[in-house]
Amino acid sequence: MRYTHDFLVIGGGVAGLTCALRLAEFGTVAVLVKRGRAESSTNYAQGGIAAVSGPGDSFDQHVADTLEAGAGLCREEAVRVTVEEGPTRVRELIELGAEFTRDQSPSGFHLTREGGHSQRRILHAADLTGREVERALLNAIAEAKIPIFEDHAAVDLITVSKLRTSASKSSKTAPIKAEDDRVLGCYVLAPDGQVHAFLAKAVILATGGAGKVYLYTTNPDVATGDGIAMAHRAGAAIANMEFIQFHPTCLFHPQAKSFLISEALRGEGGILRNKAGEAFMIRYDARKELAPRDIVARSIDSELKRRGDDCVFLDMTHLPKAFLLEHFPNIYANCHAFGIDMAVQPIPVVPGTHYTCGGVATDLHGQTTLPGLLAIGETACTGLHGANRLASNSLLEGLVFGHRAADRAVEVARAATPALFETIPDWDPGAAVTPDEGVVVKQNWDEVRNLMWNYVGIVRTDKRLARAEHRLDNLLGEIEEYYWGYLVTRDLIELRNIADVARLIVACAQERKESRGLHSTLSHPDRDDAHCLHDTVLVRGRPAPQAWPRPSR
Ligand SMILES: Cc1cc2nc3c(=O)[nH]c(=O)nc-3n(C[C@H](O)[C@H](O)[C@H](O)COP(=O)(O)OP(=O)(O)OC[C@H]3O[C@@H](n4cnc5c(N)ncnc54)[C@H](O)[C@@H]3O)c2cc1C
Repeated sequence: MRYTHDFLVIGGGVAGLTCALRLAEFGTVAVLVKRGRAESSTNYAQGGIAAVSGPGDSFDQHVADTLEAGAGLCREEAVRVTVEEGPTRVRELIELGAEFTRDQSPSGFHLTREGGHSQRRILHAADLTGREVERALLNAIAEAKIPIFEDHAAVDLITVSKLRTSASKSSKTAPIKAEDDRVLGCYVLAPDGQVHAFLAKAVILATGGAGKVYLYTTNPDVATGDGIAMAHRAGAAIANMEFIQFHPTCLFHPQAKSFLISEALRGEGGILRNKAGEAFMIRYDARKELAPRDIVARSIDSELKRRGDDCVFLDMTHLPKAFLLEHFPNIYANCHAFGIDMAVQPIPVVPGTHYTCGGVATDLHGQTTLPGLLAIGETACTGLHGANRLASNSLLEGLVFGHRAADRAVEVARAATPALFETIPDWDPGAAVTPDEGVVVKQNWDEVRNLMWNYVGIVRTDKRLARAEHRLDNLLGEIEEYYWGYLVTRDLIELRNIADVARLIVACAQERKESRGLHSTLSHPDRDDAHCLHDTVLVRGRPAPQAWPRPSR
């Protein structure tokens, strides 16, 4: 089966839905999501959206805070457009029906302040902001009658160069030059187990981040970096994958897949203790539990490695139960469901991957280096975050770049040549057979996630990166063999993607011979502005510093 639309948006979080809504004014749109329509990181965002709204705040201050967090690597143009267009995009979201917590202040909204922000500028919907954003956007999508294809997993992009490569196996067609290449659509695994072709004049990747590459993460299961892996395989430039943000405290429990224990608990007096009961943060930073997120995550990691423990504990037992129930009802109930009463026992926690700062390199309109392909949201690297993301800037980026990319996609679609669609063959499973041993896929999943956790985690060394590189190269060989030998399943597609993304993270980390922002290595412990004040850009796994698309306002 094949489907043809003007625009194909792959992903239904804040970025994809914002983009799809705008695109619907200009042509036919299809949205693909891998699981249910709301299942996305967006849906789990707790804190809020940063946008200048209060009287004492200004664009310049928000820009300065973002640049400061980004440790010298933010693209200032990207920061400016995000900060300056953000409030308008948030107002539009409110007009669509998103309800943020209100109060009597001049802005009319209760604004919170988070680490790294010099002002109160975080709009929120209690502690379930993302759910409210997703709800409002999905309602608008339903009203606009935009089709969402649920349980449809994009497998690989269809490009002119791939078509030529398959054709040249049978004839003597010359290989295509990179600049003449173009994305024409995507092969997609449908719930019936068949792979269908979705063709479009412009394809927008909005597949979110890649937290599942690591053993512990705050991200939902859909976050397997599919967009980054697909774009990379198709030849697009990928940037800054070494900058993975870790959240210091995820619930550590065999059945709790990815539950975030909010920073607000430390803000209210929570104490981090090791298994011996010692409050260890004082040994790492004078601010103790209130040190910035990356310092707390590194301190916990160091304590775990020093003692050989598998978790630390967040102790709230000195606070009254009534206070905990009033302030953290959601966290209290979730811990309780796993047999942990936080009023009487410390909560076991580990750091977990939280946000992928790098991704598919784009200009200021989401345009990638591959004609016909745009990327937005966490899957993209616009230059907004640099070497470290400022809290609550990512939902904002999804709104701003979702909107900007739609405008560019309209131009891209006008320049498309749909006649090429006729030449696209159906998915050919070749000699692939039904997988006989699911255990192989599971084993490789575990291996990738474990080795990334142990060798490419919060603190790295050259030696650990070299080990990871070697193991991943072996695994990638095995996975590729399996991929071509057996019929594709969603588990297999995701395994191939987490392995590809893991390899990109390692390659970028090996390129950066310094410690900066979220990339911390004992082999090069200092920041080195003289030699390393630049992005890490890869094309087909190789360094390509000139490949980042030029900014265009
Ligand atoms: C627990 C948690 C709390 C957070 N809190 C905040 C916060 O307070 N403020 C803030 O700004 N940010 C926060 N973040 C980060 C923020 O939520 C994300 O960066 C942002 O929502 C990403 O949006 P997105 O649209 O790029 O991707 P997502 O919202 O992750 O959506 C990805 C979409 O892509 C689809 N998809 C993926 N792969 C495929 C495929 N192969 N085929 C088809 N579809 C696919 C998924 O099904 C999903 O619909 C938080 C993140 C987490 C996990």
